[in-house]
Amino acid sequence: MIRHVKTPRLQQGDQTDATVTDAVKSLLARVAEGGDKAVRELSIQFDGLDRESYRLSEAEIAACINGLSKQERHDLDFAQEQIRNFAQAQRDTMLDLEIETLPGVILGHKNVPIQNVGCYVPGGKYPLLASAHMTVLTAKVAGCERVITCAPPFKGKIADKIVAAQALAGADEIYCLGGVQAIAAMGYGTETIAPVDMLAGPGNAYVAEAKRLLFGKIGIDLFAGPTETLVIADDSVDGEICATDLLGQAEHGVNSPAVMITNSEKLAKDTLAQIERLLAILPTAEIARKSWEDYGEIILCDTLEEMVAEGDRVASEHVQVMTADPDYFLTNLTNYGALFLGARTNVAFGDKVIGTNHTLPTLKAARYTGGLWVGKFLKTCTYQKILTDEASALIGGYASRLCHMEGFVGHAEQANIRVRRYGQRNIAY
Ligand code: NAD
Repeated sequence: MIRHVKTPRLQQGDQTDATVTDAVKSLLARVAEGGDKAVRELSIQFDGLDRESYRLSEAEIAACINGLSKQERHDLDFAQEQIRNFAQAQRDTMLDLEIETLPGVILGHKNVPIQNVGCYVPGGKYPLLASAHMTVLTAKVAGCERVITCAPPFKGKIADKIVAAQALAGADEIYCLGGVQAIAAMGYGTETIAPVDMLAGPGNAYVAEAKRLLFGKIGIDLFAGPTETLVIADDSVDGEICATDLLGQAEHGVNSPAVMITNSEKLAKDTLAQIERLLAILPTAEIARKSWEDYGEIILCDTLEEMVAEGDRVASEHVQVMTADPDYFLTNLTNYGALFLGARTNVAFGDKVIGTNHTLPTLKAARYTGGLWVGKFLKTCTYQKILTDEASALIGGYASRLCHMEGFVGHAEQANIRVRRYGQRNIAY
């Protein structure tokens, strides 16, 4: 039986309400009409940054890289190496294909990199430099030719660590722009920014909604909004580690759901007590407490099957599994952005450095997509060729009759002419 030890006040999804959609629509329209002038007005309004051009110069970028301490540069290089290595290994699995399905009939596909990509790196509350590795670097490993990137200023100034990460990841153009104005500038283009074909990267509810609304005009990677986490645990761990992992993600923002599923009432109660203890000392407790009180949830199950069913229903962005047999969940769970298996690993490792991508589906998008990866920057495009007259006439006969079943006479004629030329016969219906 499934019951709650802590119920949330608000439901996942409440944050993407009509007010956000309406606000984003009007901001998008302003940039579509006003171009650079509108981008500048909105940057002043939302981020307090007034510049002639929001593209950073080579000197500004070099200053950000040179401003890194030796240790910071080492850590950044290490993180980018891990992410590059895994992305490259994934790229190597994306094989082109060519097969002969019938004598003389060749079908294939090629994985073609998207040419123009825009990568958003969030930076309102925290300068999320890790998103630069996850987006820019991954696009570059995929082979995308022009990769441009935007991040908001941090506390009114260029977010120097983000810029260093964007540059080291291989960005071709770097802009100090945040929020909807950044997404709109990259998506529609302006007088000074050439538009992109696809947008990638996480962001707050405004950023995620702006990408969603632009989808169709351009491609997007996925719906990657405010962070969510799910901890699945049993008595093999204690309440302190569960509470740490829940609050470690709740500090992202006041609308970041942290959910726990357990089959141990003792662990559930221990975790609740540890959350209160940690909230008293966590420097980011103001955000984490609001998020926990509004969206935090502890679900008690009797069986592993119930835990899997609840985990799939929640369909969280991050799923931390700390049970006696974590691989049971690897085998049985189907809806998650990324899995962190066993107490030795954790979401922060994945978010920052281990090598997997941290741009992950939120608001239950994990039901239909995984996270960002090198494959999202590739188009799998098919082709076909027919090598013999016999094959052309054979396929032509079927195609002609099938076109007639749909009433497509013009289509059928494309097939008929080939049956006549390469098969020296007419089609009999
Ligand atoms: P952000 O860069 O996403 O947003 C900051 C921008 O929001 C500002 O530049 C401003 O222009 C705009 N903005 C702020 N208030 C606004 C308003 N009222 N109307 C219109 N625009 C407004 O940075 P953030 O706010 O710190 O959010 C980062 C988000 O990214 C967090 O919610 C975090 O959880 C999420 N995230 C998600 C993933 C994922 O993969 N799903 C990964 C990392 C981070």
